[in-house]
Amino acid sequence: MVAIWDLPDFDDHEAVHLVRDYASGLTAVIAVHSTTLGPAAGGTRFWHYADRADAVVDALRLSRGMSYKNAMAGLPMGGGKGVILADADRTKTPAMLAAFGRAVDSLGGRYVTAEDVGMSDADMVAIAGQTRHVSGLPVEGAAAGGDPGPSTAYGVYLGVAAAAKRALGRDSLAGVHVAIQGVGSVGGGLARLLAADGARLTLADVSHERAAALASEFGAETVPADAILAVEADILSPCALGAVLTERSIAALRVAVVAGGANNQLAEPADGDRLHARGILFAPDYVINAGGIINVALEYLGQGDRAEVDARIALIPGRLEAIWDESAATGATAARVADRMAQRLIGRSRD
Ligand code: NAD
Repeated sequence: MVAIWDLPDFDDHEAVHLVRDYASGLTAVIAVHSTTLGPAAGGTRFWHYADRADAVVDALRLSRGMSYKNAMAGLPMGGGKGVILADADRTKTPAMLAAFGRAVDSLGGRYVTAEDVGMSDADMVAIAGQTRHVSGLPVEGAAAGGDPGPSTAYGVYLGVAAAAKRALGRDSLAGVHVAIQGVGSVGGGLARLLAADGARLTLADVSHERAAALASEFGAETVPADAILAVEADILSPCALGAVLTERSIAALRVAVVAGGANNQLAEPADGDRLHARGILFAPDYVINAGGIINVALEYLGQGDRAEVDARIALIPGRLEAIWDESAATGATAARVADRMAQRLIGRSRD
């Protein structure tokens, strides 16, 4: 048996809580990676894992990612992640959500939850019945908070514009060709913002109807989902799943830039090196896609409104520039430069 401490993804996590509630059937993991900068913030994923050990690995990996993301976004928050292990039918009951809320509350604010894959704002409302350490709740008017998707899309849009300027020398996105993989909450919002600037778009989604409906709004092209990574364009924007950048897909890329909202785009660290070796400018995902966490963090902290959220999201391009500058100056890849910056910020410098 391998102990959690010995797993390759264990990264000096401050705590890993294995949660079980007999009455409701809840089984969950709450991983607290770092609270150096503040309460460990990160959403809760509701997912069916064939092997329970995979849920622990996911919580370890995702919570470290949240430490890096929150630090690089300038938020006074550490990194954590919740994972609820769903059964094969993905049965989710009010009793399970209440039990999860009690588990979050028992940590006394060291962990703050929000939505992630498989969890809705209605689920957050249910959890909020048990704890105040929850964000991503429905909001009214100009208050910060609510669905993080549009904020994430806005930050990715600003990052794409910064990348177009840096790699293509373009001051405007008019005529810049962007291929978007996945046109859900983030990719769809991004497409609308880019189209408003006159960008040329090629869209793909496993739901072809979704891509086609969006494309018809502004005369964009669509391609089958399995073709998008090899489309010849200026910029590829992965906005669907993680681990899409592999040795094979990188070899087939025909773009100058990869800048998108999906989490964990690199299948392995060496893929950052592969992009760099091909001269493709990469926007580290946890830097460019921080708009949503900025939105829900300000909601939790009770700081500011939509205008403040947008002002903080507007700092994302400057952070990308700093990463690209250091990468150019040192020869280190953008992905490794970002990791090192984040590690310094959370007091875990390995330099
Ligand atoms: P979503 O479920 O709304 O949209 C994802 C879209 O991708 C769906 O339309 C789906 O059909 C499509 N898709 C799935 N697999 C695909 C494939 N192989 N090829 C093409 N399309 C595919 O999810 P979202 O909220 O837009 O999130 C997208 C990505 O961004 C995820 O990786 C998520 O972790 C990340 N992210 C989201 C947020 C946020 O605020 N929503 C914040 C940070 C990161």
